[in-house]
Amino acid sequence: MQKTLNKPVSLEGFGFWRCDDVVVTLTPADPDTGVVFIRDDIPSAPKIPARLENRMTVERRTSLGIQNDGKTIVQVDMVEHLMAALFAAGITNCCVRVNSQELPALDGSALPYVDAINSVGTVEQPGERKRIRVTQSIRVGTDKSYLEVEPPKPEDLTSTICYELDYPHCSDIGKQVFSAEFVPDVLQKEIAPARTFATQDEAKVLQSAGLCQRVSPQNCLVFTGTGVLENQLRFPNECARHKVLDFTGDLYLGGIEWTGRFHGVGSGHALNCQLLEKLLQSVTRRQE
Ligand SMILES: [Zn+2]
Repeated sequence: MQKTLNKPVSLEGFGFWRCDDVVVTLTPADPDTGVVFIRDDIPSAPKIPARLENRMTVERRTSLGIQNDGKTIVQVDMVEHLMAALFAAGITNCCVRVNSQELPALDGSALPYVDAINSVGTVEQPGERKRIRVTQSIRVGTDKSYLEVEPPKPEDLTSTICYELDYPHCSDIGKQVFSAEFVPDVLQKEIAPARTFATQDEAKVLQSAGLCQRVSPQNCLVFTGTGVLENQLRFPNECARHKVLDFTGDLYLGGIEWTGRFHGVGSGHALNCQLLEKLLQSVTRRQE
């Protein structure tokens, strides 16, 4: 069955990058709508479907936009944490009304979205949600940093992911591994609460470039090399889990629930979207 929200629910905050105040309202949508962003601050209230073909290439985050003659006419930034929360809640149809170019940073995780969705509940709708079993191995990236998927074993009902990262230059991040099954309970409890992170050096570079001026260690875990600044970890491997959160949100730009065995090593948004592109191509080829 497809699913939407029982009723609208709003969250407020400020954008991580642009720092504008923002209100985002998740509203129910008809079957087969998918996830669609609507920029309420623009008089024509333009729509941006959350689909891979609308992805824009930006650093360290996932942005969507509509282009006309090579020019971006409307854009929405930082969609990945909300997309992961919608996937975790099994929501197939949702109109996301937002009054700024960027979704709120919140606590740097997808947990506030999950809590908001759970506070209003969901409702089933007619129509099947798209589920596809991966049938061929695909790998993107380099020897050092890559993302791959293998077809599921016959007995697999859901996807699994194993993610590894290594930050030798920041010993309090260090080597981390996280493995999980893609089921709602795990997504909501083990992945959604993991927060975005930066090393203290990265944070200094961003803020001295005039970005992220309102961001504090309460919106982004800051690793100093000897510990987390003014905050506490929710999980010892919270960074690896956050990478899986980003992966979950990016993969949902396909609008499909994949069944396969995923494995990432140091991968991020760019490789997430490259893998999704190849997965979608493999489905198109099968249908031809
Ligand atoms: Zn993230």
